[in-house]
Amino acid sequence: MQPSDLEIARATPLQPIAAIAAKIGIPEDAVEPYGRHKAKLDIARLSHVPRGKLILVTAINPTPAGEGKTTTSVGLADALNRSGRTTMLCVREPSLGPCFGMKGGATGGGRAQVGPMEDINLHFTGDFHAVTSAHNLLAAMIDNHIYWGNVLGIDVRRVVWRRVLDMNDRALRDIVQSLGGTANGFPRQSGFDITVASEVMAILCLARDVDDMRARLGRIIVGYTRDQQPVTAHDLKADGAMAALLAEAIKPNLVQTLEGNPALLHGGPFANIAHGCNSVIATTTALALADYVVTEAGFGADLGAEKFMNIKCRQAGLAPDAAVIVATVRALKMNGGVAKAELAAENVEAVRAGAVNLVRHIENVHQFGVPAVVAINHFGTDTDAEIEVVREAAAAHGVRAILCRHWAEGSAGTAELAEAVADLADKGAQFAPLYDDSLSLFDKIDTIATRIYRAKQAVAEPSVLAQLKRFEEMGFGHLPVCIAKTAYSFSADPHLLGAPTGHVLPVREVRLAAGAGFVVAICGEIMTMPGLPRHPAAEHIHVDAAGNIEGLF
Ligand code: ADP
Ligand code: MG
Repeated sequence: MQPSDLEIARATPLQPIAAIAAKIGIPEDAVEPYGRHKAKLDIARLSHVPRGKLILVTAINPTPAGEGKTTTSVGLADALNRSGRTTMLCVREPSLGPCFGMKGGATGGGRAQVGPMEDINLHFTGDFHAVTSAHNLLAAMIDNHIYWGNVLGIDVRRVVWRRVLDMNDRALRDIVQSLGGTANGFPRQSGFDITVASEVMAILCLARDVDDMRARLGRIIVGYTRDQQPVTAHDLKADGAMAALLAEAIKPNLVQTLEGNPALLHGGPFANIAHGCNSVIATTTALALADYVVTEAGFGADLGAEKFMNIKCRQAGLAPDAAVIVATVRALKMNGGVAKAELAAENVEAVRAGAVNLVRHIENVHQFGVPAVVAINHFGTDTDAEIEVVREAAAAHGVRAILCRHWAEGSAGTAELAEAVADLADKGAQFAPLYDDSLSLFDKIDTIATRIYRAKQAVAEPSVLAQLKRFEEMGFGHLPVCIAKTAYSFSADPHLLGAPTGHVLPVREVRLAAGAGFVVAICGEIMTMPGLPRHPAAEHIHVDAAGNIEGLF
């Protein structure tokens, strides 16, 4: 049996971070070490003229069986480096919520990991703390402004800015605040979201530079007056101090893969209520340093890749050259109707039935003008016949599906994938976002619903449509839309697996993220403050007598 992720990580010595920086040509004066194995990069001392090829790693619809996008991103970046191509990895930083909850950390797995995993999965370089503090400073300044006479006339019933915490804590979802008497302000209902759902996190990840970040922070709408006029963070004079709190956090974090290759882990927005990609600054920094940049978008390609292309690339002027769609035989089997407990048994027909899910993601990526290759992330229970079915399904759409064994073997297991990806990326793509800025907000939602989710149409109550009209009248009609829906299905129903058609996309609620620069369309039940499971991972995490952290995964 293969040792655990943590055992592998601990048995692999890491190089001093200065050596990793030197390897990728980062000047010494741009490296700000945080201990021995982490550093922040001073972006002011680095070029941002892109020269590298951008490769997006995405996936089929996730299932509880696990797909391995981060693991595959690490394996691919290691294999590209091993083939002599200068490559950097850009992925998100983990949140403590999943780390102590169910999913675990986000540093890859097996022999395809980034380290130091204990640091990265816990406090890392403090970026989440900075985002939390900046977000909550604004919240404190809102209530303080109201307390001291409310010159801006904020309607206490229309404050839309909540508080955040980087923890899964359902007790804080809905709260009544400011109880206890006149000295404590005006009681009102509010609540907490998890830090990754904060608009400040999305801003940190979409800002091109410090100035752009400050301007976006200023545009955040915190609430409305009684006559419905928006009140912004700039109106409250909070944007300057928020930017100051984020001055270090905006610098990308340099770490290394277990094979000693450079990786930037920076930012971690949710992939439902936000766009689910690492920071623009990390990606542009990497594109200036490396010939190939491997990056990941959250959830399946219907959410993550769509937002990567329509939000991140559009806003930052980036264009992907190739995409990798990660699939597993197990997840395709689940999409073909097999229960989780029966995934270990061979079932060629179920893989064939579930492959419709993969095929649709291939078609969708092609709609953006981006060439794709499928990475079959190999699990021990996969059989040759099952793998062959995945190959056939991809080949029928002119796409190669390549078996990858990076989890067990490291870069040796992704050598073939690396060659195929480099070939595609070198040829280049004809990337274009799916819709124009000028389309109405509802038509943007409908375009994604019909062309990516293959729904009949998007539908919304008159009150939701009126809200979208109002956002357009306020001058935000040009923004892209960010759809929050279940990750498990192309539809808004998590049980509708495979490749459903004929469904409708119900838009329940819309929210304006004026600072991040998108309009969120909430379709179905979306959790912005998750809870812990009955037996959270935290029950098994501890520190041994020698100070080693145990139980992280
Ligand atoms: P994603 O980025 O898609 O959410 P990760 O790469 O973080 O997925 O992987 C999720 C979990 O699955 C990790 O704990 C990882 O160790 C495990 N995993 C990934 N690939 C494999 C594999 N081929 N065999 C066994 N476990 C794997
Ligand atoms: Mg991941």
